[in-house]
Amino acid sequence: MSEHFDAIVIGTGAGGGTAAHTLAPTGKRILLLERGTYLTREQENWDPGPVFVDGRYISPDIWYDGDGTPFQPQVHYFVGGATKMYGGALYRLRPEDFGEIKHVDGISPAWPVSYADFEPWYTKAEWLYQVHGEHGEDPTEGPCSRQYPWPAVSHEPRIQRMSDVLAQAGYHPFHAPCGILLNEADRPASTCIRCSTCDGYPCLVHAKSDAEVIAVRPLLDLPNVTMLVNSEVVRLQTDPSGRTVTGVVVDHGRNGKEEIYTGDIVVLAAGAANTAKILLRSASDSHPAGLANGSDQVGRNYMFHISKAISAFGADDNDTVFQKTLGLNDFYLAGDGREWPMGNIQMLGKSSGGAMKGEEPHLTKLIPHWSLDEAAHHAVDFWLTTEDLPKRDNRVTVDGDGSIHLDYSESNESEAASLYHEFGKLLNHLGLAKHHVLHKSFYMSMNIPVAGCAHQAGTCRFGTDPASSVLDVNCKAHELDNLYVVDTSFFPSIGAVNPGLTAIANGIRVGEHIAERLGASTSAPWAPAQRGAPASHPASAIGRPPSSD
Ligand SMILES: Cc1cc2nc3c(=O)[nH]c(=O)nc-3n(C[C@H](O)[C@H](O)[C@H](O)COP(=O)(O)OP(=O)(O)OC[C@H]3O[C@@H](n4cnc5c(N)ncnc54)[C@H](O)[C@@H]3O)c2cc1C
Repeated sequence: MSEHFDAIVIGTGAGGGTAAHTLAPTGKRILLLERGTYLTREQENWDPGPVFVDGRYISPDIWYDGDGTPFQPQVHYFVGGATKMYGGALYRLRPEDFGEIKHVDGISPAWPVSYADFEPWYTKAEWLYQVHGEHGEDPTEGPCSRQYPWPAVSHEPRIQRMSDVLAQAGYHPFHAPCGILLNEADRPASTCIRCSTCDGYPCLVHAKSDAEVIAVRPLLDLPNVTMLVNSEVVRLQTDPSGRTVTGVVVDHGRNGKEEIYTGDIVVLAAGAANTAKILLRSASDSHPAGLANGSDQVGRNYMFHISKAISAFGADDNDTVFQKTLGLNDFYLAGDGREWPMGNIQMLGKSSGGAMKGEEPHLTKLIPHWSLDEAAHHAVDFWLTTEDLPKRDNRVTVDGDGSIHLDYSESNESEAASLYHEFGKLLNHLGLAKHHVLHKSFYMSMNIPVAGCAHQAGTCRFGTDPASSVLDVNCKAHELDNLYVVDTSFFPSIGAVNPGLTAIANGIRVGEHIAERLGASTSAPWAPAQRGAPASHPASAIGRPPSSD
């Protein structure tokens, strides 16, 4: 392709897809390069067997852990990236997360921007991704300049009872922020039917607010946007000075034949591990340790949360279908008798017998399906998250074959244990005994802890000091004039809530910065700021489906 672009965006997930969406209304020529293709809409999308047992949507990639043991990472290469599988729990970080936080195993470093600096983009992100929620319920959340575009998704009766019991016991349960398209009035073709297969499954009816549906599809008809799927970026080339990316080298899977694309600005958003891989593989005379890696920080500080997925079984039936409506941050911060922060508790997608088989194949091998279904009917499913620290030696490296090596050791395990202890007390209030729980491996841990890389972050942190960070405050590489990184790589710390909304907000923030740099406006008639408003997001804004659909 000989056309030169104003901006090339690599990766179409939360960060890249959203940045492209922000840039597109400028009218500038944008090229999107996506390694995967469109995730096929098929019955298997909602079937726990193919999804969890067969790993139908997991990449065949093989990575290696710190000991050199191979594993299959839980990564998904599709238009929309990991958001195709995500649970759409779209939380803001807490204001404290932007500052320095003392943890039992060390310091969670401050961000170079404050919560107040970031807040306007959180609001834009919530409106663009159609988040349902209720600001003001969770005492730990920061100020917000605008309420969510949609009211909170109401609890189903069992979850409402739980919420009432917890509130009576002195806890502060709140309605979890959900990124789903639940607007019955004007989205007949893609309305969430509140099924149980949101978390960890693709949405067959495109009713999850994922990056494909929200950010990428609306661009497909635009004359200034070119989208290439099955296009894996393998490295970036620079001019002799090393200051400017001059070529994006792409493998389209055609017998190793590579093509080179050129653009004034290059936005890298391949996910925290793959972005580091691309930069490390782009080493040259002017960047011998990898592109933009004079600080030796590219690939380091890998984080992915310490998470526990737990099914608690009680005597009562749990008829809940859409379970992810409740959150609890009472243990998020230190204070009130807590020496250390512990983290967040939220609900998981409702378990089913089929999902249990996939999650725990060995444990459930001899148990018949009907019996697992019966057990699942009594299960209430929770997700506990504790912050892990950006450790220098938790890092992505790449071997001579181009394979990713991921060295990781946990931190703050005792904080995670304390959270679990508090969770046990919670279960007592709820009549769910702690000894009747099943620890699910789900998508975060599977067989090898490092394989559960759903919340991967931190490999190109942003900061003001080029000696200790890869990116500047605008997420431009310190050492290059035209290279930006907008996936979760930029996180200097990860907090203890899901990272998606922060990646999305940053995609908008950096997209606006780049648009300004290109001398363009981002406020076309259908621009993001307007799409969340009930009266102004017609179904047609979703855009035409790709021919593969
Ligand atoms: C099962 C699951 C559940 C989750 N649930 C939640 C949740 O409820 N809430 C939440 O906030 N977060 C959740 N997450 C995490 C969230 O999805 C990620 O944090 C977020 O998508 C990260 O955004 P990103 O832009 O960094 O990467 P991604 O969204 O993964 O995007 C990276 C993109 O780059 C593409 N790519 C990779 N390599 C290349 C290459 N070489 N060339 C071209 N393209 C490339 C990928 O195919 C992908 O499209 C979940 C994740 C998973 C897997």
